[in-house]
Amino acid sequence: MFTALHPDAGRLDATLPDLGCGLAWESVHKVRPRIALTCPDCGHGVHARRSSRKLAHFAHDSRRPEHCELAEESMEHHLTKLELAVAIRASGWHAELEVGAPDGSWRADVMACAPDGSRRIAWEAQLSPITVEDIRARTDRYARDGIEVCWVTSRKAAAWMGRVPSVRVDPADGRWRVDDGVAGFDPRAGRWQTVPSPLADVVRWVHTGGLTVHQVLPRYRRVRRAADEDFAKRPLVWASRTSRHAEAKHETMRQRQDELKQARLEREAKLEQQRKEEEVQAAARQREREEHHRQARREHQELQWDLSALISRGRRALERRRAEHDAEQRRLQEQEEERRREEQQAADLAAGRAWWSEVSAAQRAELAAAVEQEAWTTLTTRAQIDPDALSPQYAYGVAAWAGGSRYGLFGVIRPCPSLVGRCPELLRERVFVRNAREARLLFEAGLDPACITHFGLPDFEQTTLC
Ligand SMILES: [Zn+2]
Repeated sequence: MFTALHPDAGRLDATLPDLGCGLAWESVHKVRPRIALTCPDCGHGVHARRSSRKLAHFAHDSRRPEHCELAEESMEHHLTKLELAVAIRASGWHAELEVGAPDGSWRADVMACAPDGSRRIAWEAQLSPITVEDIRARTDRYARDGIEVCWVTSRKAAAWMGRVPSVRVDPADGRWRVDDGVAGFDPRAGRWQTVPSPLADVVRWVHTGGLTVHQVLPRYRRVRRAADEDFAKRPLVWASRTSRHAEAKHETMRQRQDELKQARLEREAKLEQQRKEEEVQAAARQREREEHHRQARREHQELQWDLSALISRGRRALERRRAEHDAEQRRLQEQEEERRREEQQAADLAAGRAWWSEVSAAQRAELAAAVEQEAWTTLTTRAQIDPDALSPQYAYGVAAWAGGSRYGLFGVIRPCPSLVGRCPELLRERVFVRNAREARLLFEAGLDPACITHFGLPDFEQTTLC
């Protein structure tokens, strides 16, 4: 600890050459009789001494009290306070160590006062762990009394760094450099980056107003640490006016970009919405078209079925009609043939009758007798003849049967010459006629003369003989 209470001179400061009250160090260090110096925090007895590094300070007497913050402070803490006091004095400000509030609500490690008394800043060496809540509460207590504060630590991972006005200091090699808490805005990268600087410079800039506590805009709170090139969240930094302006300018630009982006996104969303609606409409139209096509196909199919049914019905009707027509034709033809046959038969009959009308019954009998004689002569058998039975199949001649079933037809008597051409059976039979004239008529009608037998009977009746 660097302060002690002197029974006469009051508060002593071991970091000042005159102990802050016009006394020499030698007047309190190792003097006899002892001066009753006391601890400003706990009131316990203290004595002046020098450390192994010749650092002037005060130490509690033996049997020190259980609870004294000053007694519990480490050497590192003391050295940090000392370095702060040196830097504050170098900046032209007054520095008082271990100053407590009249009501005990705070006790500053080093209280810096502007020469004109317009500002007071508590520089607090905070090396032991403390919650963000507690350190904010302590910051607020200073603020109530119009005192600014800057928390200083040499710890690497202080959770409150950047949550309250703060700097991290690196005491390595006695150079005391601030490597976190002071930041500059890089307009090109669009971010804050810590600006490592000597502690003395930082203290001076804070005192002159070159650096002020700056609430970083939300978008820029990931601050790049120059020391390890890593990023850390820093809502509060010590910053210059230039950097604050650069951040504000960048923020304006970013807001403008955000607005443009927002407008673009809205435009795109609107287009997307339109596109989706169009897709939905197109899909609906497509479905409608497909339904229409299906309907048309169904109708076409039904029409085809109807048509093919109609065609097959028509075809069947046509076939039926054609069959009916053919049958009718055949019937007519048959009728016609029948009629012709009947006509022919009638004509044949007429021709046959006319042919036979040329001869009398007596002449028929005469002829029949001649044939019977012929049969007897050639076959020695009796011929059976019915002179009145004209045979249409033998051209209306009269069949002469010989010997019953044994000889069959013996010959045909006097077939009608005009009908011979239509009786092919006659060509193989013997034919009997009355005389040469009749034989000639049959020869002329096409019969073989060798088959014709005539009996030389006269054409006319021998009426004279009757
Ligand atoms: Zn004490």
